[in-house]
Amino acid sequence: MDIQAELISIGNELLSGQTLNTHGRDLGQALQNIGLRLSRDTTIPDDIPIIGHTIEEALTRVDLVFVSGGLGPTIDDITRDALAALFNRKIVLHQPTVDKMETWFANKGKKMSLAATRQAQVLEGAAVLTNSVGLAPGQRIETEDEKTVFVLPGPPREFNAILSEEIIPWLNVRFADIKPLIVRFVRTEGIGESDIVTILENDKFRPADVDLGFYPGQGRVKIRLSSTADNEQKVLAAQERLQQLLGEFIGSDPTE
Ligand code: ATP
Ligand code: MG
Repeated sequence: MDIQAELISIGNELLSGQTLNTHGRDLGQALQNIGLRLSRDTTIPDDIPIIGHTIEEALTRVDLVFVSGGLGPTIDDITRDALAALFNRKIVLHQPTVDKMETWFANKGKKMSLAATRQAQVLEGAAVLTNSVGLAPGQRIETEDEKTVFVLPGPPREFNAILSEEIIPWLNVRFADIKPLIVRFVRTEGIGESDIVTILENDKFRPADVDLGFYPGQGRVKIRLSSTADNEQKVLAAQERLQQLLGEFIGSDPTE
């Protein structure tokens, strides 16, 4: 079974080069570890119609959509308004989050402002996902046609905390019968990509059901072999054959 997910990162700062978007890497890895696949990674500006269209379009392609950013208290934090318009649902105050925030502000000797309360607003009917390292919680929204939209705060520490503590465990239950991909690497030194390809072509090396990726860098090439769990033997056989074919160029450091 090939379960695909898309990521939609929201934020003008991601498009203007002020902030490096790290969510695609983190989410791609986390999903791959449990056998799901990030199939698209889109970055869009803080704009309600664009946010709505982009989520709607992603939901026509995949069952899982991750939306990040714009959940804070500032006027450019409009993600929840875009979600409310798209799903035609109200925005409601999540009282446990308000309580948590009041304690947080009280501990700092401050009173919670009205603006801060915005972070405790969630979409009606959404499951609220605890943010253990920040204030704005994540949300899980089930759509009418049984698709799932996860909404997460932008700061990577918060995005990753909610992902690993709340979402991955939920996905593990939801997709309990899915096994992680089998991934192996072969690392070479002192040979370029095109010479590797020539060796492989001369051998007609084209392993069935195994995906190959070539990642060159600084005189080395990392070759990635992957397939679904039931093809483990095919991946191991392909890895062995590659090591034979590229014998003299196999890298000395297996972690590079
Ligand atoms: P906050 O409550 O902090 O405002 P938020 O959910 O509203 O959180 P944003 O305002 O969109 O999130 O982003 C807050 C900060 O998080 C940004 O300034 C940026 O540094 C970082 N950030 C947002 N999105 C990403 C991303 N995709 N990759 C890396 N950093 C990001
Ligand atoms: Mg913000």
